[in-house]
Amino acid sequence: MAAALAWQQLFAPPVRAQSPDAPDWLASGEVFTLGVASGEVQPSSVVIWTRLAPRPLRADGGMPAAAVPVRWTVARDARFERIVASGEVRATPEAAHSVHVDVTGLLPGQTYHYRFEAGGQTSPVGRTRTAPAAESQPTRMRVALASCQHYEAGYFTVHREIAAADVDLVVFVGDYIYTTEVPSYNRVRRHPHRFPDRHERHTLADYRIHHASYKLDADLRACHAAHPWLLTWDDNEVVNDYTGDHDADMDDDDVQAFLAVRAAAYRAYFEHLPISPSRAPNGPRMLMQARYDWGRLATFWTVDTRQHRDPSPCRRLTQQLFNGKLLRDCPELAEPARQMLGAAQESWLGWELASSMAAWKFVVQSTQVSPGTLRAPFGRVVYGDGWDAFPGARERLMQAIAQPRVPDVVCLGGDVHRHVAAQLRLHPEDLTSPVLASEIVATSVSSKGLSEVVTSWIKSGNPDMLHARADQRGYVVLDVTPSHIDVEFRGTPHPVRPDARLRTQARYRIDRGIPGPRRA
Ligand code: FE
Ligand code: CA
Repeated sequence: MAAALAWQQLFAPPVRAQSPDAPDWLASGEVFTLGVASGEVQPSSVVIWTRLAPRPLRADGGMPAAAVPVRWTVARDARFERIVASGEVRATPEAAHSVHVDVTGLLPGQTYHYRFEAGGQTSPVGRTRTAPAAESQPTRMRVALASCQHYEAGYFTVHREIAAADVDLVVFVGDYIYTTEVPSYNRVRRHPHRFPDRHERHTLADYRIHHASYKLDADLRACHAAHPWLLTWDDNEVVNDYTGDHDADMDDDDVQAFLAVRAAAYRAYFEHLPISPSRAPNGPRMLMQARYDWGRLATFWTVDTRQHRDPSPCRRLTQQLFNGKLLRDCPELAEPARQMLGAAQESWLGWELASSMAAWKFVVQSTQVSPGTLRAPFGRVVYGDGWDAFPGARERLMQAIAQPRVPDVVCLGGDVHRHVAAQLRLHPEDLTSPVLASEIVATSVSSKGLSEVVTSWIKSGNPDMLHARADQRGYVVLDVTPSHIDVEFRGTPHPVRPDARLRTQARYRIDRGIPGPRRA
């Protein structure tokens, strides 16, 4: 016995001294706390994402200041018996140990499973799918449309339902995080990390921790793991109501200071979402506009309404009501040159629409395109943060659909925290102007909406809003076929409870060749 013990000790590997940081992250528990995600669906490729963060509420995520290898694997089956692609990448501290892999060489129209390995641990398994072949004629696709998930305003039960739903794609149109706090009387839970106040300078660390804290929600992680997502952003990914180079609450001459905040916000956004590495931000700039084809059945253009937007008009306080949200007596509204998309993106979208051969053309942007103004006794009151405050830019978008006549355009949006089905006209306020396209807006996942009184007041003054309900949180299912789209508005009362059940609030149908939704 003694001899055997001595022999074992002789040949046993020496106990290695712990270096100050390197093995720490391996010993600190779960590494894949933020889950996995996929997006950027193409016929032969898809982007898969994860981030190593054993301590997600720390600025460094609990990772060493060194690159670590991450192995990724893609298989046809969930048990990884039929592996079709794999490789190794380095997760670096500069990228917060996030990993974005553009997996190529895949087959069109297929479901795949993927996972990551690092530090001897294996991530949860994600499921994704490639787009159908370019010239194929799919007979059906299903899309879940969602936006606006204030963590403090309600639970992400919507994501739990979408995760279990039979959909091909999740389209998320902005307000993925909120840096604001919900007043205590409306709050159902607190941000795991308190974001600094508006007057403090927001840093990259602030945005990283905040994004990570959102990903600690199990329902959100489940929804990412279950389906590929297409994304565009709105304002709250940076700060509430920002436009282009301007923070509405900052001094005008402090553009450089705001651009530093925007750069931090864009970088953290990229680090936490399944976005192509080719679109990684460069300082305060990031390319959001992109195109995704689903065979000949549908094309989705993700459009950026924030980065290139001109400042909101009539910022002098005498013309503003409710802290700048609402405008009245604003002559600047009539100035046609003011931009929502920026000139370059506007002409890109116009050209894309005019040359598209897709049966359905989805313009994926952040807010409501159709008018939602209030008719007050003292005149029209306009929401200063949406398309109503940019009527010239909206008319140019409608012009791009009208001339040459582009059929079967559907604008998808969010931001206004209400379900909306609307028809879009060349001249939006003129009921004699022809209806050109359809609009579907998803209510918020959790963020509070306007009261029913105000919503019905808005609806009564805007007959093109065929459906408008702000009392429920939810999402929209679009069942897309070559002949029609079935639209199902799902909802549950505000605030969303953890055990909430969603119900169908309304159904609409959009027929091919007939612009505008109709009640089904
Ligand atoms: Fe929102
Ligand atoms: Ca918004």
